[in-house]
Amino acid sequence: MPRTRLAPSPTGALHLGNARTFLLNWALARQHGWQIVLRIEDLDGPRIKPGADAAAIDILQWLGLDWDEGPVYQRRDLAPYEAALVQLAAQGDIYPCRCTRREIAAAALSAPHGDEHDLRYSGACRPPEPTPLDYRSFVGEGVAWRMRVPPETPSFHDRFLGCHVHNLAETTGDFIVATKEGLPSYQLAVVVDDARQGVDRIVRGDDLASSAHRQILLQDRLGLPHIPRYYHLPLVIGEDGRRLAKRHGDTRLAHYRAAGVPVERIIALLSRWCGLPGPPAKSAVEFAHRFELARLPRAAITFTAADEALLAQ
Ligand code: GLU
Repeated sequence: MPRTRLAPSPTGALHLGNARTFLLNWALARQHGWQIVLRIEDLDGPRIKPGADAAAIDILQWLGLDWDEGPVYQRRDLAPYEAALVQLAAQGDIYPCRCTRREIAAAALSAPHGDEHDLRYSGACRPPEPTPLDYRSFVGEGVAWRMRVPPETPSFHDRFLGCHVHNLAETTGDFIVATKEGLPSYQLAVVVDDARQGVDRIVRGDDLASSAHRQILLQDRLGLPHIPRYYHLPLVIGEDGRRLAKRHGDTRLAHYRAAGVPVERIIALLSRWCGLPGPPAKSAVEFAHRFELARLPRAAITFTAADEALLAQ
């Protein structure tokens, strides 16, 4: 049976933009009979907020979403990430990098969303030829590891965007797969998790479409049998054209809930944002019955003052 995942990062509270993506992911799964794994992406040490995992679960349930497995926490089983790093090092696909923290910060642990661009890595530590190495013999040395990126990146077929083209050598260069602290990067963790959890349908914001190229490269070098089907969907943005975030005011679902906004009103706004024809849906289940991917607006959705007023009525 196909499988997808809901993968919140407990780095902050879920806002309306996250809610829309999760609702879409959940609705596609329930329409097509995919199983759903709830995965808490809790590897990004410094940005993890205590209690944000439980709060995210609570809000997803409030929205009316459910799942078939999980919550699965990444931190609870780090061995499979290490096994992948051992394999990649033995194949000469990754190499240790001793560049400064400042450079490494640019290729952070978290999913690189929209405005947090990765800096292109100069290749300062890259060996001229792929060199097989013993990953474990570097443990404790405080080195990061980078993936050798080939000069050309193959395109992939996205179920929503169509053919997606991106040249990693020109944008990120060799990207981080493990940090100096010995933790896997977001890119590596996602690939290992999707494979071990049998996830073959990935639905998420289109700010992660370029990450898919990094993830497909890793899947290929790890010899993973299936490239998942990707659905990268447009994001919700503020009136300034930037991805919805704190700067656009308090759009946390917990905030609306505490203010007494009924969940039906949230679902109604999300269903309007998803191109649902006719009257807005009143529940996640009704949304899943009526939603058609073909009607999803192709451009980003703008959260306006009028939307805010509608929620506050
Ligand atoms: N945890 C990631 C996020 O919060 C999701 C990454 C993914 O879907 O691959 O955006």
